[in-house]
Amino acid sequence: MSTSKSVSREADDILLATDMIRLGARLQVLQAETSLSYDRLARLYREVKGASPPKGMLPFSVDWFMTWLPNIHSSLFYNIYRYMDTFTPAKKSQALVEAYRLYLEQSSVGLQPGEDADEPVLSFTRAWMLVRFFESGLVQLSGCQQCQGLFVAHAHDPESGFVCAICKPPPRAGKTRARRRSTARMPA
Ligand SMILES: [Zn+2]
Repeated sequence: MSTSKSVSREADDILLATDMIRLGARLQVLQAETSLSYDRLARLYREVKGASPPKGMLPFSVDWFMTWLPNIHSSLFYNIYRYMDTFTPAKKSQALVEAYRLYLEQSSVGLQPGEDADEPVLSFTRAWMLVRFFESGLVQLSGCQQCQGLFVAHAHDPESGFVCAICKPPPRAGKTRARRRSTARMPA
């Protein structure tokens, strides 16, 4: 059994799994992306993280990616991923790892002091789910008619007249902005 398994393939899998664990991957993700056994992955996880892997189901919801802030972060990530997968030698799981690193770099820009920089809006496991959702045709990229950016949307959503979450923020964000404007107009 293990004699037929290539040693270098196994070494690659361990490196990949280690990268993914550092980025916050759940055990189910590692099982899907490598050919290492559950026991070896669990041991590797404990070595890298110094803690046991969390139990329980993966967050399985397409709708989460459509809510305002998650949509902006998911779209940023997926645009990077698509670029890496298409135009660089990094493919599939390697593209995922490298795209997620770039996403972390980009998304931490502009964080206010005191904001929790350790908890990105889009977790690695969600980023992995998103790529699977694209592969299974549950979601698509829609072009915003105002900024021309590409954003994550439900598959088969009509593309004409699509306006993204940045160009058309939800009412609550709009209200905050309007209130700030009206406060600014008040005499000091
Ligand atoms: Zn837009």
